[in-house]
Amino acid sequence: MVEAFAVASGKGGTGKTTSTLALGMALAEDYDVTVIDADTGMANLLFHAGLDDADVTLHDLLIDERDAAVEDAVYDRFGMSVVPCGTSLAAFEEADPERLRDVVVELATGTDVLLLDSPAALGSKSAVLPIVLADRIVVVLQPTVPSLSDGLKVQEYAHSYGTDTAGVVFNRVRADENVDRIADQASRYFGGQTLASVPESDAVRAARREGKPLLAHAPDDPAADAFREAAARLDVRD
Ligand code: ADP
Ligand code: MG
Repeated sequence: MVEAFAVASGKGGTGKTTSTLALGMALAEDYDVTVIDADTGMANLLFHAGLDDADVTLHDLLIDERDAAVEDAVYDRFGMSVVPCGTSLAAFEEADPERLRDVVVELATGTDVLLLDSPAALGSKSAVLPIVLADRIVVVLQPTVPSLSDGLKVQEYAHSYGTDTAGVVFNRVRADENVDRIADQASRYFGGQTLASVPESDAVRAARREGKPLLAHAPDDPAADAFREAAARLDVRD
């Protein structure tokens, strides 16, 4: 049975897209993985996965008149099935966010793990639907109290829709930061585990410039190790 994860955060730029692709590649060692860029307003997964020139994207599936087939928006990349989203504001405005439900249902039949790269802010339908549709959320945070506070709100929201917490990925952790204290608070408030503490890494930025996920660009980087650890801790149900 498929398990769907929304990779979410309170604010933008915490590393959701980076984490989605890294977790996806790590899980693809053992599972059929499908990644969807469900951040339909600020889509940028295509730049991280070398799909800038994708012809058909999630936007086409969310716009009724375009009459696109789901399989035409699925690209085989880095051992995963990847559904990128376009970057046009006009397409975002035209898209019907509710159609994401049907896309997820259709993709769920052919995969073990669905990862939804999710929008940051709550409030609009397109922003919350990925969280509502997922079984569990992975919350990507900086190891700071304000970031934790944002993440808690996301979790509260998810729980109100019956979506559980898989855990927290602390990202962009600097060597001089004491993650233990904040991880302790996180485990208390999130009731979920710390999945990993991912260091700030030049390789992450270089990977993005190359249009490759971190695990493809620099599989031996410490940040890649941390994401593999997080993937193992997800304990995906069989
Ligand atoms: P989001 O999807 O949450 O907006 P991204 O994954 O796009 O965030 O990351 C935002 C920026 O931060 C990108 O330029 C990315 O390369 C950089 N970044 C993310 N994680 C790290 C990290 N561990 N080390 C260095 N740069 C990072
Ligand atoms: Mg993103």
